[in-house]
Amino acid sequence: MNAERCTWCGVEVGGDEGYRVAEQAGERLAVFCRLEHVVPWAIQGPHWEAGTLREQPREEPALSECAHCGAAVDDTRVLAVRHRGEYRIADAFCTTDHLRAWAAAGGRWR
Ligand SMILES: [Zn+2]
Ligand SMILES: [Zn+2]
Repeated sequence: MNAERCTWCGVEVGGDEGYRVAEQAGERLAVFCRLEHVVPWAIQGPHWEAGTLREQPREEPALSECAHCGAAVDDTRVLAVRHRGEYRIADAFCTTDHLRAWAAAGGRWR
């Protein structure tokens, strides 16, 4: 399996760390070593790579609404999946911009 690299800074990101961000409807993907790197990436582009999540998060009710504004989202949502050891922690967003706003505020652990 090829090592994944941070879409923003290029550092290698192990399978049990970092963030995977996916726009599933468009089959677009980005990888981040840390949440803070989502912010400049979103402001400058964002530049996606073609691809899909290697590990799908479990579908939960919370993934049907934006974690930032609470709006209902459909399959055009942007998914952010935190890899932390064996855990996969997913959040959904209505737009990349709301992912950016959420990341800028520190994500889940503010
Ligand atoms: Zn990075
Ligand atoms: Zn939103």
